[in-house]
Amino acid sequence: MYQSTRTPAEIVSFEHALLQGLAPDGGLYVPLEIPKLPSNWKEASTIAELGFSVLQTWLKDEISSNELKDICEDALNFTVPVVPLAENSVTGKDTYVLELIHGPTLSFKDFGARTMARLMGHFLKKSGKKLTILVATSGDTGSAVADGFSGQEHIDVVLLYPKGMVSPIQEWQLITARKGVRAFAVEGTFDDCQRMVKEAFVAPDLAHLPLSSANSINIGRLLPQSLYYLWAYKTLGLNEEVVFCTPSGNLGNVTGGIFAREGGLPVHQFVVGHNANNFYPKYLADGTIDYQATIPTLSNAMDVGVPSNFERLQKLFSLSELQERFKGYSISDAETLAAMKQVHEETGYVACPHTAVGFKAVEAYRKETQNQMPTVILSTAHPAKFPEVVSQSLHQPAPTADALERLKNLPTQVETIAPTLDALKEFLL
Ligand SMILES: *Cc1c(COP(=O)(O)O)cnc(C)c1O
Repeated sequence: MYQSTRTPAEIVSFEHALLQGLAPDGGLYVPLEIPKLPSNWKEASTIAELGFSVLQTWLKDEISSNELKDICEDALNFTVPVVPLAENSVTGKDTYVLELIHGPTLSFKDFGARTMARLMGHFLKKSGKKLTILVATSGDTGSAVADGFSGQEHIDVVLLYPKGMVSPIQEWQLITARKGVRAFAVEGTFDDCQRMVKEAFVAPDLAHLPLSSANSINIGRLLPQSLYYLWAYKTLGLNEEVVFCTPSGNLGNVTGGIFAREGGLPVHQFVVGHNANNFYPKYLADGTIDYQATIPTLSNAMDVGVPSNFERLQKLFSLSELQERFKGYSISDAETLAAMKQVHEETGYVACPHTAVGFKAVEAYRKETQNQMPTVILSTAHPAKFPEVVSQSLHQPAPTADALERLKNLPTQVETIAPTLDALKEFLL
């Protein structure tokens, strides 16, 4: 059962929350209760098996176990390595990289997008309805969603991304022509894109359209994002408490982690590494709520001035409960570049700039708290997606990835629009 962050009295099913995306009152759906992990969760031998056993506790009343098993096997069909990072002067010792970068679009967003697409496809097939997915992206969401939904009947996708504010490769991934997908380059920031999506959902003259979202405002992306935290813990064979570090923007990834923790995973704390867009670290420090315009940075998938999942976290926890669970750090571009270089020099590991923000946040956390627990840093994108930043930092060419090389020969499709709801409406109507 789920409720909106804004109208708690209205209780809806998972199917409803998933297909609706944003609640009609403009709020986000949150679970009334976070289920406990199944007792045998550590017995799974693949992430798909783990997904099946854990998602059943959330979804068993709405999807048969055979159907859920098929969805998990089809969606979670790539590897999720947990790589020990050699001792180094940034992250210290006993640190691991949880590589979430081996899906088809090479970012952690593949987990949520692929699973959500199949869950939506399942419910739509049953009801015979159609949906248009409206998605604002700061880079990786759009390509994960476009790829994840391709081949799903009953679903069209409309992508909005901030023109000139995603990397050339990210843009290439977004505008690759795909069946049922239209891409728009918005003359504005990511927050403009996100606002346009939110406005479209509550616009009375669009109320007749079957619109839904695939941003981390959709609860359907958050549940699968709890799985790899469990997978990391299980793979490391640990029994003690751990620290996770999640490079963050909209706080969707780490909200998945919170679901795992509240379900029973022994997480001491989540370290959230933000770039110069430091809303959440400031909030955690003293409760200040200070929304700022987005600042462009090198870790651009985290360039978010107003993190959408903050509303969820605030609904689920008080300030002091959040302060118990999270430590937040804001990392500058200069620190990010230096961390990429230093870790590479000392260990040979090549990280994307988002993951490097995580490295630096772990350094700050350990310095401040003296915490030496095993620490798992989530690697959120493949370094091959950011060749400019990687070569700027390492003074050598970035690694390549086959999945990206293949794209370069495919046809593209994109239109430029103004950052207003009216401009979007013209297309949607
Ligand atoms: C989306 C993204 C993030 C931020 O994740 P949130 O769920 O918005 O906190 C971090 N790194 C990369 C590479 C991303 O694509």
